[in-house]
Amino acid sequence: MPDILIRNAATVVTMNPAREEIAGGDVLIRAGVVAAVGQGLAPPPGAEVIEAAGCVVTPGLVNTHHHLYQTLTRVVPGGQDALLFGWLKTLYPIWARFGPDEMFTSAQVGLAELALSGCTLTSDHLYLYPNGARLDDTIAAAAELGLRFHPTRGAMSIGESQGGLPPDALVEREAAILNDMIRVVDRFHDPRPGAMLRVGLAPCSPFSVSRDLMRDTALLARDKGVMLHTHLAENDEDVAYSLARFGCRPGQYAEDLGWVGADVWHAHCVKLDCSEIELFSRSLTGVAHCPCSNCRLGSGIAPVRAMRDAGVKVGLGVDGSASNDAGNLAAEMRQALLLQRVARGADAMAAREALEIATLGGARVLGRDDCGSLAPGQRADLAIWDLSGVEAAGAWDAVAALVLCGPNRVRDLFVEGRQVVRGGQITTIDLPRVIERQAALARALQG
Ligand SMILES: [Zn+2]
Repeated sequence: MPDILIRNAATVVTMNPAREEIAGGDVLIRAGVVAAVGQGLAPPPGAEVIEAAGCVVTPGLVNTHHHLYQTLTRVVPGGQDALLFGWLKTLYPIWARFGPDEMFTSAQVGLAELALSGCTLTSDHLYLYPNGARLDDTIAAAAELGLRFHPTRGAMSIGESQGGLPPDALVEREAAILNDMIRVVDRFHDPRPGAMLRVGLAPCSPFSVSRDLMRDTALLARDKGVMLHTHLAENDEDVAYSLARFGCRPGQYAEDLGWVGADVWHAHCVKLDCSEIELFSRSLTGVAHCPCSNCRLGSGIAPVRAMRDAGVKVGLGVDGSASNDAGNLAAEMRQALLLQRVARGADAMAAREALEIATLGGARVLGRDDCGSLAPGQRADLAIWDLSGVEAAGAWDAVAALVLCGPNRVRDLFVEGRQVVRGGQITTIDLPRVIERQAALARALQG
C-alpha cells in the first residue's frame, strides 16, 4: 500500500492529550498507521496525495452500540410509537423469521450507513440466532466493507413461558450459548494492537437471560480476555423489573454478577442514580450513550454530564436501526449535546466535547488505546468532512460547525489506511445492489 498524504485541511482535529487542532493541517498515513500529523508535510516519493482544503479531518467516529440486523425492520408500523417492552414484543415475531442472508445483508446496509456518517470502528450486539444465523454472518459483512469491527455474541435464554420477554422460539439453551461464545472467540477474536476484529460476549439484558448465564458469561470473558456488554437501566420499566425480580437496582445486579470493570460496557444507562455512577467511575465501567434511541423510545435523558464529571467512560451509539430509526453516528453527536442542554442548560455540553465522546470516548469504552485520536503510531482511522457545502456555509468555527451544523456525511473515510469512502461513495461494496437486496428481503418479510 503506498503512503497517503492528506494535505492542507482547514483543520485537523487530533484528539491528542493536548487536544490540538492544526489549521492548514496534514496527515501522513503509512502501512495502516498515522506516520505524522503537522503542517507542510512533504509527500514521500510515490505517495498518493489527497487535497483537503475546506475540510475538517477528525479521528474516525466510534460506535459503541448497535444491532445491525435491525436495519431490516426500520419503522415497522406496530412499533413506531411503542415504549421499549411493547416495541420488542411487536418485533420479536418478525425477527424470528430471519436467517443468515437477512443477517448478512442488513449488516452491510447498517455498516455502510455508519461508514458514510464517519464511523471507522463499530461494535455490534447480535442476540438472536434463528434459522441458522450466526455471528459469522455479520463478521463476513464487516470484513467485506472494511470497517474495524467489535461484534458481540449476544443471547436470550428466558422465554415467555418462564417470565421473560421474548417468545420461546427465539431463546437458546444456556449450554449451547456458552459453547457458541467459546467458538466465536476462539475463531475470530484478535487481541493484538491494531486488530480489525475483536469479539465480545453480551447476553441481551437482565430481562432475557438468567443470573447464571450472566455470571457464567462474565467468568468466560475473563478467562478468554474479551469484553462484556449488555443493556442496563434503559428506562423506568427496566429498573422496575430489576427491583421486582431481583430485589435490587440494575447497578447492584451488575456488580453482584461480575458485570463491572474496565472490560465491561453497558448500553443506555439512562436511569443510573448517583451511587451507580460512582460505581461505574470507581470500577472503570463504560457506557454506550444512545441519545436518538433514548428519544425515539421515550426512555429519558441519560445523566451524561454527571457521568463525565465523575470520570465515567462514555461513548456514543446509534443503537439498533429499529429503535432510532437512523444509523447516522454523526447525527448522534448533535443529539447528545442537545439532550444534555435540555436537561442541564446551554453550557451542559460543548460541541468539542460531543466530538470527543464520539471519537476518543468511544475508543476508550471499547478498550482501544490505538484508535480514537490522530497521532503518530495510532491506527489510520480518520474521516474527512467537507465543510464547503450549504450546511455549514457562514460558520465561524469549522470544528463546532461539524457538530452543530453538519454535514453528517463524510467526503472520505479511511480505516487502517484503506479508503472505504471516496467522494461520498462507498468503495468496497456495490451499495446500490445491497440496498436492492435489502428491499427485497423487507418485502418478503412483509408478505
Ligand atoms: Zn440496544
